[in-house]
Amino acid sequence: MNPRRAVPSAPLVLTCEHAGNRIPREYANLFAGAGEVLASHRGWDPGALPLARLLARRLGRPLLSTPWSRLLVEANRSAHRPKVWSRFTADLAEAERERILDRYWRPHREAVETAVREAIAREGAVVHVAVHSFTPELDGQVRNADVAILYDSRRRPEAVLARRWGAGLRAARPDLRVRYNYPYRGDTDGLPTALRKEHPASRYRGFELEVNQALLARADSRAAGEALAATLGEVLAGRR
Ligand SMILES: [Zn+2]
Repeated sequence: MNPRRAVPSAPLVLTCEHAGNRIPREYANLFAGAGEVLASHRGWDPGALPLARLLARRLGRPLLSTPWSRLLVEANRSAHRPKVWSRFTADLAEAERERILDRYWRPHREAVETAVREAIAREGAVVHVAVHSFTPELDGQVRNADVAILYDSRRRPEAVLARRWGAGLRAARPDLRVRYNYPYRGDTDGLPTALRKEHPASRYRGFELEVNQALLARADSRAAGEALAATLGEVLAGRR
């Protein structure tokens, strides 16, 4: 048995909403000349997918991810929110936007909703970790964190788990700046927030893991991923 593999006793659903920056061929014309912005953090979360895959391997869980760029349709926003659309898609006719939701947004959302619902039915409760990355600097503001755990502070089981995971990470890697609900709050519109509306706090515990893209670009980023996996595994197994 791989000693580095922590077997979680609480079921875990791992997702990655901004894993890729692909644009389907049928909408390529909307993005003519937009290669640069698609390749930037505005098009996707660089480094998030390899990290999410590492967590999935170490924790022995499947990963649910979507390859489509957030500039086509934003998988981490609710369908009725204006921010589900970007400047490339906001002016499309409603029928066209509905079609994009059906083909490129709903499949991932429904896969995650189903996995969460089934885990709760099977085991009574679930932990959902949505893996994201953030740009080291936005609009001239330097982000002062390497790793952040986002949760809803009004949901106590989430707060407890987030603090345990963060404390474990700080102990394992004192060199990393670990923060909570930074650079975004965990209770704004996002996939975990949508799922919180469906499930009580005792059954659904949802987190966005936000990792600085500067850390993910480092040669030793894998070691940070290993520490994230090991400490999450300890928390899930109740050893921390
Ligand atoms: Zn993201």
